[in-house]
Amino acid sequence: MSNTIFDKILAGDIPVDSVYEDDDILAFSDINPKAPFHVLVIPKKRASRFSELSSRPVEETGRFFAAVSKVAALLDPNDNGYRVVINNGSDGGQEVEYLHAHILGGRKLTWPPG
Ligand code: AMP
Repeated sequence: MSNTIFDKILAGDIPVDSVYEDDDILAFSDINPKAPFHVLVIPKKRASRFSELSSRPVEETGRFFAAVSKVAALLDPNDNGYRVVINNGSDGGQEVEYLHAHILGGRKLTWPPG
């Protein structure tokens, strides 16, 4: 499937609260936040799932994770802590079939997740 809500967001068809954007990624606030800050980071080069990254060029994957770290630093400048979550597939709780990293923080987070 390549017409998910995140494809439409990237195409500019659905407005979002953009947090950061560069050539590789778009970061925007989650519409249903689970923490004081909850931002989603999506790569502009489409992947449906995290599991696809094992067959992608490592430079591409590396740039994605570097960008997630950069966005997290904007959200948490004092490095108090946050969580990066990537849900993969139905058992992993992935609802949108477009690779995305959640960055959650701004409070003490509990562990383990449900
Ligand atoms: P996941 O369960 O990992 O696939 O996460 C999908 C996330 O996308 C959920 O946290 C939703 O709240 C979020 N979401 C869905 N639609 C939008 C939207 N239009 N703008 C921002 N976040 C969204």
